[in-house]
Amino acid sequence: MSTHTGPICRVCRREGSKLFLKGQRCYTDKCSFERRNYAPGQHGQRKGRTSEYSIHLREKQKVRRMYGVSESQFKFYYDEAAKGKGVTGESLLTLLERRLDNVVYRIGFASSRREARLLVSHGHFLVNGKKVDIPSFLVKAGDVIEVKEKSRKVTSIIGALEGMEQRGVVEWLDLDKDNMKGKIKMLPERKDITMPIEETLIVEFYSK
Ligand code: SF4
Repeated sequence: MSTHTGPICRVCRREGSKLFLKGQRCYTDKCSFERRNYAPGQHGQRKGRTSEYSIHLREKQKVRRMYGVSESQFKFYYDEAAKGKGVTGESLLTLLERRLDNVVYRIGFASSRREARLLVSHGHFLVNGKKVDIPSFLVKAGDVIEVKEKSRKVTSIIGALEGMEQRGVVEWLDLDKDNMKGKIKMLPERKDITMPIEETLIVEFYSK
C-alpha cells in the first residue's frame, strides 16, 4: 500500500487537530498528524504570535472542515443556532451532528464524513423507508436509517462496518449491524460531541 497520505492530511496539520478525514487510516499509526504534529510547509514548526482573530478563525475553519461543509452552509447553521433558544455554540454543533452524512459516518456505514457524503448522494440509504440522497438532511429522534437492499454489497459500506469495533457507536445512535440498519435513539447533546472543539471561539468569530 502506498504511504502517500495526500493533501487531505495537511488540513489536519494546518488546523492542529485530527479531523478524521481519511477513514480507517485516521485510527492507525499511519495518521500523518500523529507523525508530524505541526503545520505543513517550510515554516510549519515556527511558533509565531497569534492574534485573537486568527484563533477564532482557525477554530471555525477546523470545525467547518471536520464536518466538510462550505462557508455559506456553516454560516447558515450558525444563524439557525443563533435564532434558537439554546446556547448558540452548542446548538451549532448539534445541528452539524444531525446532518445525514454525519449520522451515516457515526453509525458506521462509512469510514469518514467525506465517504458518507458520497454514499448518501449516490442514494444508498433509506430514512424511514424512503430514499434520501441529500447529505444535509437533518435527522430527528426516532428516525431509522438503513442501507438500501441493493446497496448491501457496496464494498466501502461493508469495510466501514467492519471497522466499527475500533470506533464504536455513539450513545445517541443504535446500530443493528447484521441488518445494516440504525436508529436515532435521541438527538445529540453537547456532551455527546467529544472532539476537542471550543465552540465559544466560533461564536466570538461571528459576533465581531
Ligand atoms: Fe490524515 Fe486522518 Fe490523520 Fe487527519 S486524522 S492527518 S485525515 S490520517
